[in-house]
Amino acid sequence: MAGSLHITGMGLAGCCLAWQRHFRGEDFTWEDDDRPGSASRVAAGLVNPVTGKNFSVSWRLAEFLPEAEAFYGRVGGLLGKTLWFPLPVWRLVGEAEWAKVEGKLEEARPWIVAVEEDVPGWRAAVVLKGGGRVATREFCEGTRAFFEGKRGPATATAVWCEGATGLVAGRLGRHRCAKGEILTLKAGWREDRILIGGGGWLVPLGDGMFKAGSTYVWDRLDGEPTPEGRARVEEIARRLGGADFEVVGHEAGVRPIVRKSQPVIGPLEDGRIVFNGLGSKGSLYAPGVAGRLAAWLAKETDIEPGLDVRCLP
Ligand SMILES: Cc1cc2nc3c(=O)[nH]c(=O)nc-3n(C[C@H](O)[C@H](O)[C@H](O)COP(=O)(O)OP(=O)(O)OC[C@H]3O[C@@H](n4cnc5c(N)ncnc54)[C@H](O)[C@@H]3O)c2cc1C
Repeated sequence: MAGSLHITGMGLAGCCLAWQRHFRGEDFTWEDDDRPGSASRVAAGLVNPVTGKNFSVSWRLAEFLPEAEAFYGRVGGLLGKTLWFPLPVWRLVGEAEWAKVEGKLEEARPWIVAVEEDVPGWRAAVVLKGGGRVATREFCEGTRAFFEGKRGPATATAVWCEGATGLVAGRLGRHRCAKGEILTLKAGWREDRILIGGGGWLVPLGDGMFKAGSTYVWDRLDGEPTPEGRARVEEIARRLGGADFEVVGHEAGVRPIVRKSQPVIGPLEDGRIVFNGLGSKGSLYAPGVAGRLAAWLAKETDIEPGLDVRCLP
C-alpha cells in the first residue's frame, strides 16, 4: 500500500498523515472540499496537559506530547513558520472545585510547576508545564500549499480524514460531536501564559491578540456563529482576562468526537480506512496517531487495540 494512497480531507488528521507519508518517502494524493465548520480551521490549537472538571492527565500524554513537539518543529522548519508555541498553563480553580482538584494534585504532579494561592478571584492556580499552542490554521494552510502538486481526485486506496462530517454521516456508529464557538480578541492582557478556568480558556496569540473559547453544543452541528455563543465566550473572556477587550473575530466549528478525545484509525467493514475522533485534542494526538497509521498502511505494524476502529463497541 506504500506506493499509492489518497487522503480525503486535509484538516489536522489528513495533513499529519500527509507529512508522515512524506517523511517515510511514500507517495500520496489528496483532496479537500473546504466544508464550513471544519474544526482545524477554527481551533485554538491549545495543548493542555491536565484537563477537564476532573483535572485528569491527558490520555498517554507522556508518549504523544514529545512526538507532537518534534513533529511540529520539523514541519515548521520545512514551511519556514513557527507552529508550536510552548506556554505555561494556569489552571484557575474556584472555591467549589478546589477539594476535587486538590485530591488529584498527586496524580498530576509530573506536570505541575507550582500551586499559586494568591490569585484574585480564584481559590488557587495550578501552574502546569507541557502546554502550549499549535498554529493549526497555519499548519493546515501551509501543508496544503506545500503539497499542492499532489492535489487531485482519488485514484488509489483512500484514507477518510473527514472529521465531524464523516461521524455525522454515521460511518462509525454513535458519535458525540460537539459544536464550539471561539472569539478572537484584541486586549492589553498578559501574553506569557494560557489561562483555563470557569469552563473556558484564554490563549495569547502575540501582538495583543487572544483566542477565547469555547462552547459545547451537541444538538446543532453546523459552522454558524450565534449570538448566544458569542455572549457565553465574552463572559468567559471577562472572567479570565477582564472587561477591557475588543472582539475582532467570531467562528464556529464541530469537534469530531467518538469516545472523548481518543482518536481511531483503521479499516471499516465497508473497506474504507478512517482516521477520525480527534475530539477536543487534535493538536496533541494527530501527529503521533498519523505516524502509527502510516506504519500500519506500510504493513510494518498492527494497529494497537486502543486506536483500532475495529475495537469500538
Ligand atoms: C471550537 C473548537 C475549538 C477547538 N479547540 C481546540 C484546541 O484548543 N486544541 C485542540 O487540540 N483541538 C481543538 N479543537 C479540536 C480540533 O479542532 C480537532 O480535534 C481537529 O481539528 C480535527 O481535525 P480533523 O482533521 O479530524 O477534522 P476537520 O478539521 O474537521 O477536517 C476535516 C476536513 O475534511 C474535509 N472533508 C470532509 N469530508 C470530505 C469529503 N467527503 N471530501 C473531501 N473533503 C472532505 C473538510 O472540508 C475538512 O477540511 C477545537 C475544535 C473546535 C470546533
